[in-house]
Amino acid sequence: MDKTSQTSSLKTIGAILVLLLIATACKQARKVADSIIQPTPRELYARQFENDSSLFNPWENAYKNSLMDSIQIELPYAERGIFFTKNRDVYSYNLLLQRGEVLHAKVRTDSLSPPIFIDLYEQTSDTLSTYIFTARSENGQGSLKKAVEKSAIYKVIVQPGIGTTTHFQLELYSTPSYSFPVTGKNTEAIQSFWGADRAGGRRSHKGVDIFADRGTPVIAVTEGRVSSTGERGLGGKQVWLKSSLMGNSLYYAHLDSILVKTGKRVQIGDTLGLIGNTGNARTTAPHLHFGIYEGYRGAIDPLPFIRINTKPIMSAGQVSFEFPKITVSAKKANLRQAPSVQGEKVGEAEKNDTLSILGITKKWAHIKTEMGGKAYVHLSLIDLYPNENP
Ligand SMILES: [Zn+2]
Repeated sequence: MDKTSQTSSLKTIGAILVLLLIATACKQARKVADSIIQPTPRELYARQFENDSSLFNPWENAYKNSLMDSIQIELPYAERGIFFTKNRDVYSYNLLLQRGEVLHAKVRTDSLSPPIFIDLYEQTSDTLSTYIFTARSENGQGSLKKAVEKSAIYKVIVQPGIGTTTHFQLELYSTPSYSFPVTGKNTEAIQSFWGADRAGGRRSHKGVDIFADRGTPVIAVTEGRVSSTGERGLGGKQVWLKSSLMGNSLYYAHLDSILVKTGKRVQIGDTLGLIGNTGNARTTAPHLHFGIYEGYRGAIDPLPFIRINTKPIMSAGQVSFEFPKITVSAKKANLRQAPSVQGEKVGEAEKNDTLSILGITKKWAHIKTEMGGKAYVHLSLIDLYPNENP
């Protein structure tokens, strides 16, 4: 072997070694980075397509663009539609959630468990990063549950895995973090809410009043420990329960009698006392004043923690793979930000315009315009199955 070829083969070996080292280092670096940043199931899934930019890039861009969608919905919400490979659509919804609510997002499909990713972001007032990542579904199983710690606008993003084509049903709704504090009663028994005037407007109501017959049991809404009991001040006979779940202090006031001792550990549903009108409720009908106190913040609105919300009702309409485009049948059709006539108008379509259909919610079609904008249009203004008509 002459000197030049020896040098060049050494160089080759050297280059291979360097490449191997880089590859190992990359894997190591990624492992270290993963343990710090903790990639989402969606990010982990996407890695298998990283080297196939024709598949990966449109999918990734669709996700990024969906952060700018401005679809607004109210809970409960149900939508029936199709994930269509060719559209590479991402479904993105803005909604208001209050501290104390537990958000549930569920996607069901009719095919054998394709990966479905659901991410939750919180809107901030920061103009540079408008949304901060808050929660995600586990392992692409199309199901997310998150107790909300802050009242804010949130964004739910639903994205099927690359190449998924299937019918789907989406449900978004919320449940309260705690159970209801009075046996046999529900939200309808609340007759005075957070913030109502007290003492002629000199102070405001720091809880909710739940009316029931004298002697009705008031119960632990969560497991915890009785931190204090006694008869004093405006609240009269009262029980304070320290919640194990969130560390909040729960205040039960105006009781006729107290049936627990300080220090007792209780489970959900255990009786703490009986409804009465002690303290400054002497002149009113028996009721429970229920309050929630959060360490440094003080009293917070207890309603979202106990309010029982309705479940979504799936719409009857169906989207067909044969008709992924719909046509406008009315002379003009308003495109709206929300599935309601109160929804802000974001555009207009004219007779025979075609729109891609993403799903149906009640009497509204969730659509995408040629420009890629998402909106709702009322079903009475469109033809869902355009080719069927002669
Ligand atoms: Zn009250």
